[in-house]
Amino acid sequence: MILQLKSSVGDDQVAGLATPNQAVFFKTGDTYTLVLPAAVKEVPASLESLTEKSWVTDSDIQLAGKAYKSDVRQVSWGKTTIGGATSATVMIAGPCSVESEEHLEVTADLLNELGIVNMRAGAFKPRTSPYTFQGMGLEGLKLLAKMRDKYGFSIVTEVRDATNVEEIIEYADVIQIGAKAMYDHGILRRCGKARKPILLKRGFGATLQEFVQCAEFILSGGNDQVMLCERGIRTFETKTRFTLDLCGASYLKEFTNLPVILDPSHAMGYAYGVPDLSRACVAMGVDGILVEVHPNPKVAKSDASQQLDHAQFRSLMKTLNPVAQAVGRTLV
Ligand code: PEP
Ligand code: MN
Repeated sequence: MILQLKSSVGDDQVAGLATPNQAVFFKTGDTYTLVLPAAVKEVPASLESLTEKSWVTDSDIQLAGKAYKSDVRQVSWGKTTIGGATSATVMIAGPCSVESEEHLEVTADLLNELGIVNMRAGAFKPRTSPYTFQGMGLEGLKLLAKMRDKYGFSIVTEVRDATNVEEIIEYADVIQIGAKAMYDHGILRRCGKARKPILLKRGFGATLQEFVQCAEFILSGGNDQVMLCERGIRTFETKTRFTLDLCGASYLKEFTNLPVILDPSHAMGYAYGVPDLSRACVAMGVDGILVEVHPNPKVAKSDASQQLDHAQFRSLMKTLNPVAQAVGRTLV
């Protein structure tokens, strides 16, 4: 159950109200919100006179649920606004990793020419093997910041672990929490205190309930700028890297109040399928898609097989606009 307390409830009072009710609390402006276990269905008598508004929820999808907010939350950064009353489908594109300034700049030029304002690339890479490229680290973040300065982009980049979370919060415009970091509670809690939008990816072995509950850790820390990204889950199938859970995306659209983003690149794992999947994603009317593009995918230092080359990306973009329009959305 969620309670919005009256603004007369002060900082010195709130912990004493939350603790006996097993509640988590955060402050928005001058009012506190308490989140009690979902099993609580009535405002506790001790809180009645202090409660402005209350919402009954049916699971631990509480702050992210439609019972709490029936409209999709609006999330804004840089030149981008998604969710809320907008009909925007945001394109987030770029290479898997920052590899060098020259490399980043050619793709930045391409995005700029195509009117794309959100550039993605990882500087701290959560790789499957310790013997492969691990990312350029802080140097990579500085290169991303250079692209932001030169082209006016917003930068979407991932936090790998607790050792780089502060640097990512400082440099990123949108903080990506990757599939492997979805369960890192240190990162989730720290991002709950950050004042930047969070793009939370679904762990490839996580159920939808587990995924959204991870978003609850961020929301209940007081950060209401959270987006959910489905990027493929592990199934029995081995011909594709993962299986893009479009049914799951429908569930998230129907039952949560968070913008939904789809990532066809990591799901498919092979460039040949990414254009078709991208069109399918846009046709679903989601709030955004994330696509990996690289000037020469064959020599990419990470995710080589799935990145589109520049020509493939260009032709994909031509076909995406009409698909977006057909479902009443604008690709931005
Ligand atoms: C990425 O976006 O490059 C990435 C590592 O994604 P995921 O966390 O979904 O594997
Ligand atoms: Mn990648």
